[in-house]
Amino acid sequence: MPTSTVENYIKQIYLEEQRHEGKPVAMGKLAAALKVFPGTATTMIKSLAEANLVDYESRVGVRLTRSGQKLALHVLRRHRVIELFLVKVLDMNWSEVHEEAENLEHVISDEVLARMEKHLGYPTVDPHGDPIPTPKGEVEERELVNLTECAAESDVRIGRVLDQEATFLLFLERNGLEPGNTVKVLHKDAVGQTLSLGLGRGKTATLSLTVAEKIEVERLDA
Ligand SMILES: [Zn+2]
Repeated sequence: MPTSTVENYIKQIYLEEQRHEGKPVAMGKLAAALKVFPGTATTMIKSLAEANLVDYESRVGVRLTRSGQKLALHVLRRHRVIELFLVKVLDMNWSEVHEEAENLEHVISDEVLARMEKHLGYPTVDPHGDPIPTPKGEVEERELVNLTECAAESDVRIGRVLDQEATFLLFLERNGLEPGNTVKVLHKDAVGQTLSLGLGRGKTATLSLTVAEKIEVERLDA
């Protein structure tokens, strides 16, 4: 069984590839994301390449192989099921479960994972709107767009949040911007770099575009 360090590297490469449409991940970026020295990351990547989990080309970057992808999806599956379980069953707040899941994802058995999933009714998304890969490693892709791309007057449903930092999630929660909620884009101010949203019952919220960029939505207008 791979160590938690191996799993963290593989998971991070997967997430970076997702963010940048499958382009090779630069070593500097990977090291920064994992908070390790570039030299440490390079040593690790070379041994992951030997284990056939990644393809590595110096100066270009690193990419997951098929077996690397399989491992990444397995770790993400554990992570996301655990997060949902902590929220739904143990009543934890969605802002505090990511850190817990970071640890638990490396230790729970397939048996416990299967029982958690069954208990939750075989869910497809976690509390942050991230898809839960199936046991076969399939990921259901939904049609989501960035909130900043939505025109004024459009009705949208919050689909996914791209930052799991606790203060950010609490901010969203205070404003009713959790996944599943519907809002209306009222106005986008390119000069002031803000976006205002109608939250229903006459309530509104104004977000900076930097915050709005971390939210993906489903368009509800035909
Ligand atoms: Zn998480």
